[in-house]
This record gives sequence, structure tokens and C-alpha cells, in this order.
Amino acid sequence: MQDYDLVIVGGGLVGGSLACALAGSGLRVAVVEAATAQAPKGAAAAGPPPAQYDERVIALSLASRRIFEGLGIWPALADAAEPIRRVHVSDRGHFGFAHLDADDEGVPALGYVAPARAIGAAIEGCLAAAGGVDLLRPARLGGLRIQQHHADLEVAVAGVSQLLRTRLVVAADGGDSGVRKRLKLGVREHAYGYNAIISTVTPESPRPGVAYERFTDSGPLAMLPMTGGRWSVVWTAHERDTPTILALDDDAFIAELQQRFGRRLGALTKPGRRIAYPLRLVLAKQITRPRVALVGNAAHTLHPVAGQGFNLGLRDVAELADLLVTAQLTGRDPGGPAVLNGYRRRRGPDQRTVALVTDTLARLFVNPFPPVRAARDAGMLALDLCPTARHALARRFMGLGGRLPRLARGLPAASR
Ligand SMILES: Cc1cc2nc3c(=O)[nH]c(=O)nc-3n(C[C@H](O)[C@H](O)[C@H](O)COP(=O)(O)OP(=O)(O)OC[C@H]3O[C@@H](n4cnc5c(N)ncnc54)[C@H](O)[C@@H]3O)c2cc1C
Repeated sequence: MQDYDLVIVGGGLVGGSLACALAGSGLRVAVVEAATAQAPKGAAAAGPPPAQYDERVIALSLASRRIFEGLGIWPALADAAEPIRRVHVSDRGHFGFAHLDADDEGVPALGYVAPARAIGAAIEGCLAAAGGVDLLRPARLGGLRIQQHHADLEVAVAGVSQLLRTRLVVAADGGDSGVRKRLKLGVREHAYGYNAIISTVTPESPRPGVAYERFTDSGPLAMLPMTGGRWSVVWTAHERDTPTILALDDDAFIAELQQRFGRRLGALTKPGRRIAYPLRLVLAKQITRPRVALVGNAAHTLHPVAGQGFNLGLRDVAELADLLVTAQLTGRDPGGPAVLNGYRRRRGPDQRTVALVTDTLARLFVNPFPPVRAARDAGMLALDLCPTARHALARRFMGLGGRLPRLARGLPAASR
């Protein structure tokens, strides 16, 4: 039986970031990850890549950049991250329009766009350099038993069964969290009936640093600037239309996309691979129970409108790491009430607010009812004309609305 202070189930972007935040803290940490390690550039992978390191591109908020700086990850990621200096929001075929600008906010960038693979590689680099974290992979959670002073996990590591004992289990195992299901923690769930189809394009008239969110009759279409003059496409499509869009040949796909997006970036060329993700809201009703904390998608899986999911998960990581390092410094139980109550109190409001905002946007902007459409267009124009409202929205987009974790304020996760 192996003894740990903390076992993180799920070593995706969120679980990996938490392990990195705790490496070197003195806490004994293990990560149980179902997928094999990400292969170094040029090498053949030993198995399928982790889902989170797929073709997805992530819009990182300014707060996430600060957290990555605090974790020492940002320098490894900076070259792959394209700054967002302006966000342009519009309603296709209608008058609604709004914009956010980094200059108005006095910041060099409102956020950054980076491929999930690059973020994953930076996290892997952090874990390799820091050491002190046991990475168990490919490994699957078999059994989980919660006791008063510890939890026991049965884990199959490369097919061989191992028993782990820990004082805290962190569920970072994604939207279908096995930990959450085993413990019968309830969720609020809604399937939107839409998919996000992701791809990349290279426009002939690029506008560096400009991100577009265009609301269309089938939902939002986001175009995010990437390095190398490419733009990431996140096209929301109704479930029934998804197979047709995926099956289009490249020319037909570009023609359809161009028609939806317009000519703001000139002609769109060189479409990349297309992948569809079903969209749903899954919000855990409780994010803690004795000896257990839920982080990232295990706690909140959101519609990707406004690119909030990972940023929210990273703020969970920053707060939990701060509480755990404090517990370690003061000799407290990492899975005890001080840590778990603190985590619930500090993270609950942010998680609920962001879930509510993204859910409202996702539903409001596919509603074809004319009065709703007119009201939201008027709302967008009012927003564009009102600097105070724009400033409040920009702060939320930058992850700077509400209570900020220490790491997002440029402070270390508790002083070591
Ligand atoms: C199309 C799309 C675009 C998005 N764009 C953005 C964006 O711009 N900005 C943003 O902030 N967010 C965005 N998101 C959300 C973001 O991708 C997720 O919030 C984030 O990846 C969640 O990370 P996670 O580590 O919590 O979960 P996951 O990425 O799901 O990772 C869970 C991990 O747990 C492992 N696992 C699962 N079960 C087990 C088990 N039983 N045993 C061991 N391991 C297990 C899995 O292998 C995986 O590695 C987007 C999402 C989508 C679908």
C-alpha cells in the first residue's frame, strides 16, 4: 500500500496544473491518469493521446497567464501563445455589435490563444523538472473507499493492480468524472443539442490579435487568432447538421464558413482537420465531500462560448493549491474541514456565476424569437456605447472579476 497526502484522479490540463502547483511543496502527491504520456515532438506515441491534448485550442484569460507565471510554466508556453488585443462581437444579419480592447483596459492583451497540446507539453515539462510527484499512467481508478481519516483507492497501473491510501482525493477526471459518479454526487445537467466543430484556417487578410465571436442562427461562431497567421475556428452547429458539415470537402467547408463569418479577414484558406464536440452543461451540486474535492470539468463542464471552462478550472487549481500549501505549512490535514470548507467557500460563487453566464449566452443567442433577438442586439449596442459596462465585461473575460486566487494576483500559492 502506497501512502500519499493527495491523489489526483485525472492528469489532464487541470489535474496536471494542480500537480505542478504542488510539486516541491513537501506534500506527497500522486496523479492517476488513464492516458499514456504525451510523446515528445517527433516521437511516435505509445498509445492514444490524452483527450485534453487533442486539436483543441484554448483562449487563456489574463488571470490564467498570471497563474501560469506563478507556476513557472508561462516561459515554456509563451512562444505558442498568440495575444488577443481586441474582441469583436457581432450578430450575423442583425445590427448588434460590441467590442473590447486591450488599450481601453490598459493591458498588453486581454488574453492569449494557445493549442491544448502546447499547454499540455508545458505542464509535462513542469512535472518532469520539479519531480516529487508520482505519475501513474496509463492507470485507471478501480475502487474508491472513503474512511474518516483517509481514502483508499484501487488503481490498475499498466494493468497491474495497486492500492493507494491518501488523505485527500482530488477528482480532476473530466465531465464524466468516475469519482463523482462513484460517490453519487448529484449534478445539474443540460444537453444543448449542439456540437462545437473545431478547425483552423489561414486568412488572406489577417488582423493580428483580433478575436471574433459571431452569433449566428445556429449559435456562436468563434474565430481566434493563433501563431503563424492561422485562426482557430469554433463553429457551433445543431446536432442534425453536424455530420453534413464534417463530411463537406475542404472547398465546400470554406465556402460555408466564409458565408457565416463574412469577409472581415478576407478569403479564408487552408482548412485544418475538423472535430466535433457535443456541448453540454454539467454542474456538480457539491464540489466537496469529506476527503474529496472536485476541480475543473469534473465540477463544471460548460458551453465553450466565451472560452471560460479551462480558465475557471485553473482558478480552482490556484485556490486549492493555496489552501493545501497553507495546510502543509501549518501542519493541518490536507483533506480536513479547513481545506475543504475553504475551497467550497472560495470557489463556489465563481463557478456558479460563470456557469450561469455561459448557459444564458448559449441559450439567448440561439433564440430566433424576434423580440428576444431585438433585445439582445440592443443590449450589445448599449454595451458598446457604455464604457463602464464594457470594462466590467472585459474584466470578467480576463478572469479578473470577483475574488482572485493569490496566484492570479502574482503572489505565490502561500509563502513556502
Ligand atoms: C470545443 C471546445 C473549446 C474550448 N475552448 C476553451 C477555451 O477557449 N478556453 C477555456 O478556458 N476552455 C475551453 N474549453 C474547455 C476546456 O477544454 C476544458 O474546460 C478543459 O480541457 C477541462 O480540463 P480537465 O482537466 O478538467 O478535464 P479533461 O480535459 O476532460 O481531463 C480529464 C482527464 O482525466 C482522465 N481520466 C478520466 N477518467 C479517468 C479515470 N477513471 N482514471 C484515470 N484518469 C481518468 C482523462 O484521461 C483526462 O486526461 C473548450 C472546450 C471545448 C469542447
